[in-house]
Amino acid sequence: MTKRSGGIHNSSFAIFSNDQDNNRQEVSSVTKISAVSTVSLEIPYEHGGPKAGWGGQSWNKLSILMVKVDTEDGLTGWGEAFSYNCRPAVKAAVERMIAPVVVGMDSSDIAGISRDMQQKLHLFGRYGITIFALSGLDIALWDIAAKRANAPLHQLLGGMARQRVTGYASLLKYRDLDLVAENVTKARQEGYEAIKIHETEVPEIAASRFAAGEGIPLMVDTNCPWTPEEARQMALRLLEYDLHWLEEPIFPPEDFDALAELGHRSGIPIAAGENACTSFEFKKMFDAGAVQYAQPSVIKVGGITEMRKIAALAETAAVALMPHSPYFGPGFLATVQFAAAQPVEGFLERFYCILEASLYGDLIDTVDGAFVVPDGPGLGREPDPNVMRDYGVEDG
Ligand SMILES: [Mg+2]
Repeated sequence: MTKRSGGIHNSSFAIFSNDQDNNRQEVSSVTKISAVSTVSLEIPYEHGGPKAGWGGQSWNKLSILMVKVDTEDGLTGWGEAFSYNCRPAVKAAVERMIAPVVVGMDSSDIAGISRDMQQKLHLFGRYGITIFALSGLDIALWDIAAKRANAPLHQLLGGMARQRVTGYASLLKYRDLDLVAENVTKARQEGYEAIKIHETEVPEIAASRFAAGEGIPLMVDTNCPWTPEEARQMALRLLEYDLHWLEEPIFPPEDFDALAELGHRSGIPIAAGENACTSFEFKKMFDAGAVQYAQPSVIKVGGITEMRKIAALAETAAVALMPHSPYFGPGFLATVQFAAAQPVEGFLERFYCILEASLYGDLIDTVDGAFVVPDGPGLGREPDPNVMRDYGVEDG
C-alpha cells in the first residue's frame, strides 16, 4: 500500500470516539482510498444532422470515462476525466499512473493529493491526458467529501447562491446553413435564452443570428481554426452579427497575446480556456488580457480543486467564468454544483443533442433554459447502474 509522506499538505485525518470513560481516543484513520477504477461508456445521440466530428474522427456516440474512488469505510465517489477520442489513454493513466500511487492516501486530504499528484506526475505533462486523469480523481474525492458531510457539494464550495443554473444550447457542427438555422430555432423554442454554434463560415453564422433573433446572446465557437491575421479579417466580417463572444478563434489556443490583440482591435468579446489545464495556465491567460470569458473545464483543468483557484483568479482579473461542460457524466453534475456556488452566475454549456440514455435522468436537461441543482449528498445524485450496465464498453 502506497502512502504519501512529507510536505506541509500531508495531514492524516483521524476519527475519534468516546470510550466509556469519556476520554477521547484515536481509533483509526478510516478515510483511506482503497481502490481507484474506471467505467467507460458510449451513449448514442441525435442532434438533428449528420454526425459531427472532432479530433479527426467522427462521433457516432458520446464517450464518457467515469472515475470511481472507494474508501476503506465504504464510501464511493464518482469523477469524470475528459476523454472523447482519447478515452483508452486516459483510462490507462487513471488505472496505471494514478491508482497505484493514491491507494492508501487519505481521501479527505483533497488539496494535498492534488498538489502531490501534480508534482509526482509532472514529467508526463502538465496538460492533456495526465491532468484529465487527475481531474477525474479530484472530482471523485470531492464527491466523497460531500457525502461524508451528508451535504450536496455546493455546500462545501460556499453554499447555494442559486437553485437553478442558466444553460445555453451548444449546437454541434452542422456545416449546413438550413440545418443550423433550424436547430437554433428549435433550441429557442425549447426555452434556451442563449445559443452557441460551432460554425466558421459567415453564411451559417448570419443564418443563426437571423434564426435566434436580435438581442439573444449568440456565441460562435470556432475551435482554433485561424492564424491571428485570418482571425482579424473574420472578426471584421462578424461584427454586424453582434456576437456575445467569439470562442477560440486562433491556433494555437495558448497564443494569449494574439487573442488579447484580436479582442482589443475587434471589440468582440473573446472566450477561451477549454484547452487550458491548471490555474497556472489561466493566470497566464488573464495576465495577457486574452479573454473576457474564461471557460475552464472541470474534467480537464484538474477537477474542482483547480476550478476553485481559477474562479478566484478570474474574479480578481474581472473575467467572467463560463464553464466548459459539454459532457454528461459526473463532470456535468460537478459543474452544476460548482456553478451553483459561484457569486456571479455564468452560462453553463449543454451540448444540444438527445441522448439515448442518461446517467442522471432529467438532471441533464434544462427546464425553461436552466438546470436544476440537485441537493442529494455529494454530486447530488448517484449514476444510474442500469445505464452503466447497458452502455458500458471495454477499452482494449
Ligand atoms: Mg468550445
